[in-house]
Amino acid sequence: MNRDKNINIDDLELAKAGCANGISLQLKEAIEEGKHSLSDEQKLAIIEEATVHYGKFLTALGVDWENDPNSSNTPRRVAKAYVSDKFAGRYKVMDDITSFPSDGYTGIIQESNIPVTSMCSHHHETISGLVSIAYVPSENGRVVGLSKLNRIVEHFGRRGAIQEQLTVAIHNAVDKICEGNQGVAVMINATHNCVSCRGVKHQGASMQTAKLTGCFLNEDSARAEFYTNIQLAK
Ligand SMILES: [Zn+2]
Repeated sequence: MNRDKNINIDDLELAKAGCANGISLQLKEAIEEGKHSLSDEQKLAIIEEATVHYGKFLTALGVDWENDPNSSNTPRRVAKAYVSDKFAGRYKVMDDITSFPSDGYTGIIQESNIPVTSMCSHHHETISGLVSIAYVPSENGRVVGLSKLNRIVEHFGRRGAIQEQLTVAIHNAVDKICEGNQGVAVMINATHNCVSCRGVKHQGASMQTAKLTGCFLNEDSARAEFYTNIQLAK
């Protein structure tokens, strides 16, 4: 077993299409037609339609956006930001992530302090924080290039999510891509604008979520190494 291996993208999607942290319904249709992303024309059509509706949203709020030079283009800006950035991960499947043979390395592989920007699915307010990911390959297992872990975080973060499901989605992707691993650990430490800017309005509160499997769940030493590495990387 000494050749590169590409992962079936279907294995990476846990959430139902159209739901929080899932792909968009338009992409689901495109995949059924054998495509991996929406065309620029399709994305433009989504932006056009969303622009009209966001304009109506502002009108309902009593905003005379059409006659305000600062707001006249706001519906389009907002729609574009959703399609190009905030929900970008909903409109294309994850780029192929090639894994490589571990070549006998069976130690921990960890990346800490991966920035994550997402949006909570309950309030559409920003979530921002840091993700730490670790895995332990088996002797004949698979490893990935380090920046691929960052790409996995970007892909699932740029969809909107609740932090719990984002943790699980990232964990699942690493687990599937690093085939034959002895364990995978994912920890997210993030602040939520829906807590700091609205509702209870508590600044500075942060949320920690973690999903650990294999050696990280069953062996105190592996779990301790993961959390110690997070501290070391600070
Ligand atoms: Zn929220």
